[in-house]
Amino acid sequence: MSTARLTINLDALVTNWRNLNTKTNCETAAVVKANGYGLDSGRVATALAKAGARNFFVAIAEEGVALRRALGPGPGISVFSGHMEGDAKLLRDFQLTPMLNSLDQMLRHFEALPGHPFGVQLDSGMNRLGMEPGEWAAVRDIALGQNPVLLMSHLACADEPDHPMNPQQLKAFQEMTDGIEVPRSLSATGGMLLGRDYHFDLCRPGIGLYGGRPFGDALPVVQLDLPVIQIRDLMPGETVGYGNTWTAPRQCRIATVAAGYADGLLRRMTDGDIKAYAGATPCPVVGRISMDLITIDVTDLSEDPAVLTLLNEQQTVDTLADAAGTIGYEILTSLGARYARTYQG
Ligand SMILES: *Cc1c(COP(=O)(O)O)cnc(C)c1O
Repeated sequence: MSTARLTINLDALVTNWRNLNTKTNCETAAVVKANGYGLDSGRVATALAKAGARNFFVAIAEEGVALRRALGPGPGISVFSGHMEGDAKLLRDFQLTPMLNSLDQMLRHFEALPGHPFGVQLDSGMNRLGMEPGEWAAVRDIALGQNPVLLMSHLACADEPDHPMNPQQLKAFQEMTDGIEVPRSLSATGGMLLGRDYHFDLCRPGIGLYGGRPFGDALPVVQLDLPVIQIRDLMPGETVGYGNTWTAPRQCRIATVAAGYADGLLRRMTDGDIKAYAGATPCPVVGRISMDLITIDVTDLSEDPAVLTLLNEQQTVDTLADAAGTIGYEILTSLGARYARTYQG
């Protein structure tokens, strides 16, 4: 079989959640938007709920529906995009809590679903989502009269601990929410690592759970094993792959494995220094990554490999991201639908 295998370690995921949880004295929720950063929101959230997570966040109402079906009644599911036109039935039938982002959303929510739980998203400077200070000042008494369950905002630069934007947004969030008797949330993974001032009542980590930076102590959660389809010998001077970008400097053995950029293994990764692992032994990826195939120099192995590993403890989503000039989030959410997925734990 030439199906590449993605192994998702739910025990490592749970350990990451627990380790992040011990960094604060507040509640630790979990962000499982984009289908759990590509790893299956239902399985991810079910494992975290068993470990004690009580609140989950998704991007849009439809993701909340899928998550509610997987989790059943009980855990809180909140929707960052708030209450959009046409969402009322889903929010009600699947007990989803919208984080309202504007006066328009607020009016829509109060009219369509009076008494239905909601939170408020405030913009503390990122200029992406949520009510700005002026808008909030104008509507906050109305909002507070309807008993929001959470006031939240989001940090733009939390992965850079010394960035002046962090204290600036903290101050803006405090000015908008101090003295209000409603639970507050400011921090995702990055903010959790900035210290107590940033924790408030609830933190919302995403990437750290899945093994990515900026949570430096994160355990890797994904392993990616690619079956070798064919191995060939090259004479010095022969080339490999599209565009002849790699030339054999000596007699070589080249293995071809079954995955490519259609599986989320970004073509630009070869701008950096990427390996494929035969057990613990790194072998250089050579030539261009094509849609379904990658070529690897296995000359120095004593035995021909049946499988080569692209994601493991040594080479994480962040390593691949650095090579491709992107972030671990994008590597995770790009991992394709063609993999055979195995869940451990
Ligand atoms: C994605 C997201 C998070 C989680 O962020 P991580 O950096 O993955 O921890 C938290 N809050 C909001 C509003 C988000 O969009």
